[in-house]
Amino acid sequence: MAMSDNVVVSDGSQDDAESTCSAPVTGVPLFDIQRQMAPLRPEIDAAVSSVFDSGQFVLGPEVKTLETKIAAFCQSNFAVGCASGSDALLLALMAAEVGAGDEVIVPSYTFFSTASAVTRVGAKVVFADIDPVTFNIDPTDVARRITKQTKAIIPVHLFGQCADMNRLSDVARGNDLLIVEDAAQAIGAEYQGRRAGALGDMGCFSFYPTKNLGGPGDGGVLTCCDEKWSDRLSLLRVHGMRPRYYHRAIGINSRLDSLQAAVLNVKLPHLEQWTDMRIANALKYDQLLKAAGLTDHLELPAATVEGRHVWNQYVIRVRGGQRDALRNHLTEARIGTEIYYPVPLHRQACFADLNYSVGSLPETERAASETLALPIFPELSDAEQRFVVQRISAYFQVASKAA
Ligand SMILES: *Cc1c(COP(=O)(O)O)cnc(C)c1O
Repeated sequence: MAMSDNVVVSDGSQDDAESTCSAPVTGVPLFDIQRQMAPLRPEIDAAVSSVFDSGQFVLGPEVKTLETKIAAFCQSNFAVGCASGSDALLLALMAAEVGAGDEVIVPSYTFFSTASAVTRVGAKVVFADIDPVTFNIDPTDVARRITKQTKAIIPVHLFGQCADMNRLSDVARGNDLLIVEDAAQAIGAEYQGRRAGALGDMGCFSFYPTKNLGGPGDGGVLTCCDEKWSDRLSLLRVHGMRPRYYHRAIGINSRLDSLQAAVLNVKLPHLEQWTDMRIANALKYDQLLKAAGLTDHLELPAATVEGRHVWNQYVIRVRGGQRDALRNHLTEARIGTEIYYPVPLHRQACFADLNYSVGSLPETERAASETLALPIFPELSDAEQRFVVQRISAYFQVASKAA
């Protein structure tokens, strides 16, 4: 995900719903954490206070409560809190003893830590291309890249929609591979009635502030259905220590803070409603963009029939090489947008030694050059969505006149 300096946050002028309805819209943030936090502030403040009163700042009772609730929410048997989504990925690979001599297949069109976790355990990253419709890893390309060294696949449920888990599970089963889900953007997403985090061997989630369930800082959680994994993950997140100062494995420090868990426990009961609001916003964009006749210029995101898309991002493709110019036009209209991701991982300087040339993952590279994320956060108003679509329409009318 974008780091906080890339997140366009409201200046506070539209904090209350009333002013958003009556006053003309003068800009739209990509994401506005204040609108979500404001009504919950008294409850959040009380939860934070009680952590201060207890003095148990690390892995306290709030963390246990959150783990129990997250396991239930994700339809998995166990949940293990940790310090971030990036650490969740690292811990999953450590638990599975993936290391030197092993290969792990990941998409290149994703956030950095999906791949860096593989390098950090000493294994080799193998990048696969994506399906152009869903932006998720292409199971056919995964199958093509399997070798005797392949140990695991990390499908990413990108933008909030589950990867093609049936086909990936078939590939994994046939080759005795582990599946670690990168579900950082997909808490509450479903695939054929089952939830993200319960579709593979282990699921990795992030509580980074811009995720669908975001905390006031960094945090993460792993889910799994097999007790063997939860036991191992619980050990590895505390330096392999059990009992205190007796180390039976080399782990890391990746504990979840009680303060994060306390705030997340206040927010979690609202997540279903926020997700439904995101889904409604996505449908409204679809309708407005189609009604404006913009589908010659834009390709709208597709939600597959297999699942529930939770819309962490609403990502359009802009045809005709117009993406960056459209983005500039929207920035001038004070509309926050983002490019996920401008440089795919196989073209990053730090992975140059893997030797993926330009054109080696064509759909990944095309997506990186065409995609643009529009504001989709739950509290986005009808007037704001119409403003975004009006500004996009204005751009293409100007562009076609100029041509
Ligand atoms: C956010 C994100 C991560 C990393 O989560 P952090 O909590 O920021 O470490 C990993 N993978 C994907 C796909 C993400 O969007």
